[in-house]
Amino acid sequence: MELYKLGIKAAREGLEKGDFTSAEIVESLYKRYNEVNPEIGAYLYFDIDHALELAKASPKAVPIAIKDLINVKGQPCTCASKILKGYLSPYDATVISNLKKNSFIPCGRVNMDEFAMGSSTENSALGVTRNPYDLTRVPGGSSGGSAAAVGGDMCIAALGSDTGGSIRQPASFCNCVGIKPSYGRVSRYGVTAFASSLDQVGPMTKSVEDAAVLLGALAGCDQMDGTTPEVPVPDYAKLLERASMKGVKIGVAKEYFDVTGLDPEVKRITDEALKKCEEAGAELVEVSLPHTEYAMAVYYIIAPAEASANLARFDGVRYGHRSSEAVDVYSLYTKSRAEGFGPEVKRRIIIGTFVLSSGYQDAYYTQALKVRTLIKRDFDEAFKKCDCLLTPCAPTPAFKFKELQDPLTMYLNDLFTIPSSLAGVCASAVPAGFTNNTKLPVGVQFICPGYEEGRLLSISKAFEDIC
Ligand code: GLN
Repeated sequence: MELYKLGIKAAREGLEKGDFTSAEIVESLYKRYNEVNPEIGAYLYFDIDHALELAKASPKAVPIAIKDLINVKGQPCTCASKILKGYLSPYDATVISNLKKNSFIPCGRVNMDEFAMGSSTENSALGVTRNPYDLTRVPGGSSGGSAAAVGGDMCIAALGSDTGGSIRQPASFCNCVGIKPSYGRVSRYGVTAFASSLDQVGPMTKSVEDAAVLLGALAGCDQMDGTTPEVPVPDYAKLLERASMKGVKIGVAKEYFDVTGLDPEVKRITDEALKKCEEAGAELVEVSLPHTEYAMAVYYIIAPAEASANLARFDGVRYGHRSSEAVDVYSLYTKSRAEGFGPEVKRRIIIGTFVLSSGYQDAYYTQALKVRTLIKRDFDEAFKKCDCLLTPCAPTPAFKFKELQDPLTMYLNDLFTIPSSLAGVCASAVPAGFTNNTKLPVGVQFICPGYEEGRLLSISKAFEDIC
């Protein structure tokens, strides 16, 4: 078998036995990159020299593709934005040092929506990424490059980031496993911030076992990120050995099924997933999360508010692009930002500054924070009755380029992933089947309480086994 097809587990076994070396995997990935990246566009940058150098230094390390908002020392980190053109990272993000400590190495940088704002990767200022299952369709987003690289066998596994669904929705579109860890489970030091009360980095892989191994390497308390508590990291991979659906109480919330815009094929696949779980010994329990209907509105106040503050640092002085038209400090800021940011990023900054402006803050931002608490409480209540929730991951399978023209329709693609992000709990996307006519992959979402990634991974693995 070609080495680029391997997942983490198989790669590690082969490396251990001495069947091949890390450098050989990197070479194989590079060959694959040259063959298919011109068409798929998953990578923005494959650093063959650096990857080979790292592979030679640690001959048993597994290469990982990195979303272009995570800093790797000496490499570009563009966030798929023109404003960061020419910027080179001065240091490694904690997730990158954690990878290196656990026998993984970064091999290249993958495309995304600009500053992680979007659901199709069409907002990248640096190029198009296509869905490896149908080149006329989007890979999802914002971690579309990560998903296309995993789904298109252009990497062994990838890192993505998820603020409102950006790991799970593209994973669903490209037949990958994706984990959005609980808020604070994984350090964000060195990860470009979009919405700081929501952002999390997580694994995107070819199997649940791979996700468990990779999450184990990423997770844990970090001195450099005050939002990471000292909660021990279990041996996730070991927990999977006992994975079973028997006796698992699966919550089914009507708010995730009686929804206009839910594609009938996605509905069929999710219903079948529930049936398979039941046949394998799970118990289905009805639950209700009544504040779900407000989640989109709350997210599109909180996320832009935080983004407008986080993106203030891109001012033409400290990072990347600097306008050559500027005549004074003020025009240096405004022109650099006007030239550097794309339309979606500007839209978010304008919404964010509006909802935070004096006179409106109480009506929008403060109100949104209160409703966020109600959404979180819904999850607390639901988890008193069940071990996990099973929901559709995204309302549709991968859509065509330019199909969702209007920003609101695009935002609605994250309907099912946003509430759990607001609640800070953990969630997975696991492949569940293919649509009948279009043969597109569709994933389902499992949601577990905060810091129950072990449970989440076990249930996801049990599902993978029966699917
Ligand atoms: N699609 C959502 C947005 O545009 C979520 C993005 C994300 O999770 N990074 O904000």
